[in-house]
Amino acid sequence: MNKKELNQIKQKALEEHIPIIMDDTLEVVDKILKEIKPKKILEIGTAVGYSAICFSEYLQTNGVIDTIERDNQRVIEAKINIEKVGVSSKINIYEGDAVEILPTLNEKYDVIFIDAAKGKYPFFLKEALRMLKPNGVILADNILYKGYVMSDYNKHKQRTAVRNLREYIKEVTEDPNLETEILEVGDGLAVSKHKN
Ligand code: SAH
Ligand code: MG
Repeated sequence: MNKKELNQIKQKALEEHIPIIMDDTLEVVDKILKEIKPKKILEIGTAVGYSAICFSEYLQTNGVIDTIERDNQRVIEAKINIEKVGVSSKINIYEGDAVEILPTLNEKYDVIFIDAAKGKYPFFLKEALRMLKPNGVILADNILYKGYVMSDYNKHKQRTAVRNLREYIKEVTEDPNLETEILEVGDGLAVSKHKN
């Protein structure tokens, strides 16, 4: 993969305030992917393709990433970026709302990366659990949401998001089939490994 091009994609996304995965979060995910060597990854929230491009490096030969994005402009840019770094054979973009697309998918995934509407995390989790392979991992980015999730301040505008992120944390921690860690990297990352 062309690192210079990847860095240009990253810089442009940062300039445009597109919330791409943060460096320290990416480091943690890289380690997990190196260990798992996934054949199939599902990503919810493509944006301009930055994280999917980064993750594609760790796929097995013939491995694929399915990624979902509802913003048409971002889908267009993601496709251009993916083409530019030469990984289009590894990344498949579904355009539309993940709430509608997820129930139509019936694949099994080694890794599922949740990185979209925070108010939908409990729904995304339910769908992720349905499609997770035994010993697979579910990752949820922005799980601590600027610290709101762990604070008791409840009056901000992001109330619904915070409530749903808390609900997500409760469900993954209480699920006897999962082993979950909430990491304080970036904006918070929940790592839930399927025990089986
Ligand atoms: N994973 C990307 C960043 C994703 S930002 C990276 O690290 O490079 C979150 C993206 O999710 C945004 O582009 C937003 O448009 C998209 N999104 C939010 N809710 C969504 C939904 N319900 N369905 C599909 N995409 C959604
Ligand atoms: Mg994110």
